[in-house]
Amino acid sequence: MTTPLLDVMGLSRRFGELAAVDDVSFTAEAGRIVSLIGPNGAGKSTIFNLLTGYLPLSRGSVSFRGRRIDGMNTCRIAELGIARAFQIARPFRGLSVRDNVKVGALFGNRDNRGLGVVDEALALAGLTELADRPAAELTIGQLRKLELGRAFAARPHLLLADEPLAGLVPAESEEILASLKALAARGAGVLLVEHDMPAVMKVSDRVVVLEAGRLIAAGRPEEVNRDPRVIEAYLGQ
Ligand code: ADP
Ligand code: MG
Repeated sequence: MTTPLLDVMGLSRRFGELAAVDDVSFTAEAGRIVSLIGPNGAGKSTIFNLLTGYLPLSRGSVSFRGRRIDGMNTCRIAELGIARAFQIARPFRGLSVRDNVKVGALFGNRDNRGLGVVDEALALAGLTELADRPAAELTIGQLRKLELGRAFAARPHLLLADEPLAGLVPAESEEILASLKALAARGAGVLLVEHDMPAVMKVSDRVVVLEAGRLIAAGRPEEVNRDPRVIEAYLGQ
């Protein structure tokens, strides 16, 4: 068996009495989109915070490209090639779209720098035509693309995308999904947190279902879709 891109084992995080993430294990592979789903409070964002070193683990391990990254700081983890796209972009409002994406290229994956990275990231995020616009003039949908473009410019081996479709109209969602698929087609892994279930079922190679910090199901979209525990977790919301 080959080493997975990301190997999460027994991941746990407590906040006082609360087990926000409780013994969760899963993998992500290069070229694949894996979605983390679950009701609010399931622990999805906490998992992203743990994987990026933003929060320390209470227990468990995280291996990325065959090496342990739990305990490393956020900068080191970004340099190894994990990028995160936030739901709410906080661009440099006075800078153009291109310059904002350029900033993304300064961080991230160290063994993957070079010319053309910015233009490539702009194209992949569907931002080429907007490249010279000031970030301050962008719509919500365009800001979401900018957030992805910034992350793409870091040339990640693994992208963590937290609710990239939230608040978007269907046409914008389609564009964002196409960008994520294009990134995966280039060989990156994508870990997606998203509430839009039709989109998740359409775009994911695998789905990991969480409820109150615990993994309750995992598998291909069509498998988790008919899992009684998953149906119950969602109907019980
Ligand atoms: P999700 O992203 O799936 O909605 P979160 O990971 O944000 O869930 O939260 C999981 C649980 O952990 C929630 O009960 C939340 O209130 C709690 N939590 C998250 N972050 C913190 C924190 N920094 N301090 C205390 N509790 C937190
Ligand atoms: Mg969240």
